[in-house]
Order: sequence, then C-alpha cells, then structure tokens
Amino acid sequence: MLNASLKELASALDARQISSVELTTLFLDRIETLNPVLNAFITVDRDGALSAASAADARRAAGKAGPLTGIPLAHKDVFCTEGLLTSCGSKMLSNFTSPYDAHVVSLLKAAGTVMLGKTNMDEFAMGSSNENSFYGPARNPWNTGHVPGGSSGGSAVAVAARMSPIATGTDTGGSVRQPAAFCGVTGIKPTYGTVSRFGMIAYASSLDQGGAIGRSAEDCALLLSAMTGFDARDSTSLERPADDLATGLDTPLKGLRIGLPREFFGPGMADEVRTAVEAALAEYRRLGATTVDISLPNAKLAIPAYYVIAPAEASSNLSRFDGVRYGHRAAEYTDLADMYSKSRAQGFGAEVKRRILAGTYVLSHGYYDAYYLQAQKLRRLIAEDFSRAFEHCDVIAGPTAPTTAYAIGEKSDDPVQMYLGDIYTVAVNLAGLPAISLPAGAAAGALPVGLQLIGNYFNEARLLGAAHQLQTATDWHLRQPGGAE
Ligand code: GLN
Repeated sequence: MLNASLKELASALDARQISSVELTTLFLDRIETLNPVLNAFITVDRDGALSAASAADARRAAGKAGPLTGIPLAHKDVFCTEGLLTSCGSKMLSNFTSPYDAHVVSLLKAAGTVMLGKTNMDEFAMGSSNENSFYGPARNPWNTGHVPGGSSGGSAVAVAARMSPIATGTDTGGSVRQPAAFCGVTGIKPTYGTVSRFGMIAYASSLDQGGAIGRSAEDCALLLSAMTGFDARDSTSLERPADDLATGLDTPLKGLRIGLPREFFGPGMADEVRTAVEAALAEYRRLGATTVDISLPNAKLAIPAYYVIAPAEASSNLSRFDGVRYGHRAAEYTDLADMYSKSRAQGFGAEVKRRILAGTYVLSHGYYDAYYLQAQKLRRLIAEDFSRAFEHCDVIAGPTAPTTAYAIGEKSDDPVQMYLGDIYTVAVNLAGLPAISLPAGAAAGALPVGLQLIGNYFNEARLLGAAHQLQTATDWHLRQPGGAE
C-alpha cells in the first residue's frame, strides 16, 4: 500500500480491501519511524488525520466518494491550516495557529483528502536546500547526509520516503521542481494564477504558485486537478474552465516537438546530470517525439532579475511580521521601535534578513530605476524568449538543476552558489509558465536526476501527458530510496 498509486489506493478503498483509517494509520506509523531521521514534517496531526479518515470512510460508505476521498496527504507548512500550527519554517510564526484554511487546503478537504501533517521548508520559502528552516534541515532519503532541495523539501522527502502518497508545495523560483528532482519524485508548478494564493503565506506574490508533488505524473494530475479553481479572494486567480488533466495522460508522443534550449545545455551542468537528461531525451525520440534546437537568449539574465524582483516583493510582504498583529514578539524592549526591531531581529533567520535588506535596497529612492525597473524589463525579455520558442516546439526540455543533491552544509555559507542552483528554474516563474520535473535517471550513489519540461501557458495537460508517457516506458519514478531505513 505504501507504494500504491493514487488510482490503486482509490480502488483498494472502493473494494473495501482497506479503510481510510487503516491506510492513514499505515502512513502515520511510517512517519513516526522515519521522521526522527528525515525531519520531513514540522507537525504531525494524528488525531485530526484519523478523524478525517473516519469521515472519509463514512462518505465512501454513503456512496459519495470522489477520486481522492480517504487519500492521505501532507501540506507544505506555507499553507494556512485552521487550528494547526502554520510556521512557514520560521521562528517568527512558530507560535501561529491559523484561524482559517488556505483555499488549496479547503479544496482538498472538500475532496475528502486526509491531512497527515505539515511539511518542513526553508523559512518563508526562501532557499534551495531546506537548510534555512527554523526546524532544522530535512534530509534526503537517498542519502541522509545530503539536502533534499528546497524550499518544499519536506514535501518531496515525505513523498519519496513513502511517508505520504502526495503532498502540496509552492514554487516561486523552483521550489516544487528542484526538491522533486533531488528526491526522485515528480513535481508540477502550474501556470501563474491557476492555484489560489489565498492562505498561502506570501514570499514574492507575482511569482508564487502552489503545485503538486507525487511519485508519478498520473498522481500529480489528480492532485493538481483538485487544487485548481477560481478564487475571488486572490486577485490574480484566473477565471477559466477547468482543464481535465487526466485525459491528456494517454496522448501519444508521436509528433511532439521538444525544444532544447542551447543555453540549458552549456557548461555548468554536472556530467552525470547531462548523461541522464540525454538518455531521457533519447527515450523520448524512441517513443516518437522529435527534438529541435532552440534558443532562450536572455535565460542567463534570469538569476539576476529573479534575485532583484523576489527580494523586492519579499521585503514588502514580510513587513507585516512586526510582533504586533501575530508572530513572535521580543520579551524585552524599551519602546515601540525597539519592540519592532528586536522582534524582527529574533524572529527572522539570516537568509530572510538578507533578502529583506536586498529587497529594501533595490526599491529605495535612487536605486529603484537602476535595479528594480531594469529587472522588470529583463523579466519581459525572458517571457518573450519563451513565446518565440513556442513557435517552434510544444514543450521545452532540459535539466531541473545543474547538479544532484549536494551534501548538507556544502553551500550554506555561500548564498551566490546557492542562488546559481536555480539557474534552470527561475525563468519559468518570471514568465508565469507551467513546468514539471520528473525523475529521469540516477547519478553516482543513486542520487536522482530530474528532467524539466516547460510548457506554454495552460499546457499542464500536455506536460503531464509527456511525463506520463516517459513513465510508462521507464521505471525511474518507481525506484525507492533506502537511505533512511
Ligand atoms: N531557491 C529560490 C529562492 O530561494 C526559489 C524558492 C522558491 O521557489 N520558493 O528564492
């Protein structure tokens, strides 16, 4: 059951081979065994999960079950969950019990899913390795001395280590795709505006987007379908008819044109990543797809543009954490200004402070035009590169990350090295496009390699279909890590 797909779980529940309470107990017990090592969960809600599971069993008995009814899942701790700690990986919110559910959480509750708990993450989703969490790093189940990737590291670990069949994540610059790649699972970030940001603690609002993590594209399609939908409480939520993501899965690859951007295959990519990505592309050709060379000439500007825009938005979004409305407040202070300053100094970690400082700087009078405005212009150029590229291809492929998962501590003292790891993912967020990462091979020591497929706006079904076709022909997504056991 721990290895079953969502479809298999749903049919086992339907056939009464197992109840949701039994299934939930199985995963809760596994979390209890593995979490002390992997640190994937910040909060485990055993009582809440068991009562949701028994409600799901009753719903099924009444003949009212949907495809996700009774299925356990985990939410990244960036999503507000009513009555439960919602820490966002920060000391600042380590005392925050949310009074309401995020839109994504309510949709998945309404679908009958059973929340096992909240997963570990980089503080306020700022990071690429999960080492910036106030709760300590989550660990990669393929090698527990290595990072799981970030910021949705806990969610990727939970799915890879079979502590949860599926999990939610958020992706501002790669935080669903990169941990999925490092942990050997599948993760999709949809078109900006598809998933409501209501109740999703904001990092950089024009880039943040909720996404789905599962072991396969088929599981991601089911989860993502249940997470999407218009929400009037998010002003950037799109009002459009829902796509049926599951129906695209069986579309044959014949005729699919895969664009290979020259800029994604240059120096900087580790050999073992290149070998795996090229083998996956050869498999795609064998299955009937064609590859075409394309260029994204401004891709090299994505990191500098992103690391101006994201901190700028973060500096504004994080101003609300002042020790008054909610969150950590310093125990001792002399006056109001001192209280603000001490509360923020104590509540935020080093990386969050670095981003607030950088963001405040690029937005300040005299620097705004030189940095922020320039970055916005680059953002437009990057988006235009993609539109031009999609005149020649249907999807764009390349590595998700330049390396496999690195050792804990290896890059934590060097923010620039850490930021460079986002080289293949951030352009997608700047353009607002959908993209998926799927396991496509393994490097030395069995560490997984992720293949990234980028689609045009609203082409999630096509991405999931292309990923599913590869997963039908290969077994990378079925491999199981043994690092924690
Ligand atoms: N690593 C990137 C950052 O630190 C992306 C994080 C994310 O997608 N939330 O900003």
